[in-house]
Amino acid sequence: MAEAPSTNRTLRLSGKIAIVTGGASGIGEATARVFANEGARVVVIADIQDDMGSQVAKSIGNQRCIYIHCDVTDEDQVQNLIQSTVNSYGQVDIMFSNAGIISPTNQTVMELDMSQLDRLFDVNVRGMALCVKHAARAMVDGCVRGSIVCTGSVGGSEGSSRSTDYYTMSKHAVLGLMRAASVQLATHGIRVNSVSPSGLATPLTCKLLGMSKENAQENYRKYSRLEGVVLTPKHVADAVLFLVSNEAEFITGLDLRVDGGFAKL
Ligand code: NAD
Repeated sequence: MAEAPSTNRTLRLSGKIAIVTGGASGIGEATARVFANEGARVVVIADIQDDMGSQVAKSIGNQRCIYIHCDVTDEDQVQNLIQSTVNSYGQVDIMFSNAGIISPTNQTVMELDMSQLDRLFDVNVRGMALCVKHAARAMVDGCVRGSIVCTGSVGGSEGSSRSTDYYTMSKHAVLGLMRAASVQLATHGIRVNSVSPSGLATPLTCKLLGMSKENAQENYRKYSRLEGVVLTPKHVADAVLFLVSNEAEFITGLDLRVDGGFAKL
């Protein structure tokens, strides 16, 4: 259950209309909750897991959060997501473009399965680009000095020994998209940044590893240099909150790593 917004502190997203793709689960779900707790007028969760997305929206509160089915690979559905948000609430202030998948098998360069790569790029690159494109258009059309954040990965800035298609290729593309958009949208006052976590336990990675949340957390401990803390979706959500808040008013084109001093991939 989402916390009721506190009345004795300044809410950082007061009155904002926010969209979170991939908000039914993991990092997106945690971020939808953080946005609502920080006073967002409405958080729109966009996902393809309808039952989970609806449950998350209901648990946050019907007046403050709604669920819309949207497959981010489908341009018509992304346009509908943005248009129905504008029609219902007047504008889009925040787009957290976060939906993503990982290939089910380890992909080294010499073992690349091109059908897996195509599917992955469809969601992680094409889907991300569609969400940025249509959110940006709505912000420009509505003269909204909005904020867009994409979910990258620490793998988006370096090579890796595995998951070539996911970590290295698709997340480099996400950073490229973010950087191009930040340059092109700056004249409209729209900020575009990315958040790049290292590995953390979410339904995505627990399923991939075949591990419980606790075992997956233990598995990812070795990728961080920082002792005494384990990366959680809430840490990533808090970094996203910073990027979309007024505290980051002069920050655009930044890839904010949430990685505990990342060790290796
Ligand atoms: P998750 O599986 O818990 O959440 C991802 C959500 O995206 C799911 O609810 C899923 O239904 C949704 N989704 C998938 N395909 C979609 C589509 N076509 N249209 C709309 N929604 C779709 O996973 P997560 O770990 O929270 O991942 C969120 C983001 O974080 C992804 O972009 C992922 O690449 C990135 N990331 C995750 C990790 C990690 O270790 N978990 C590390 C770095 C980056």
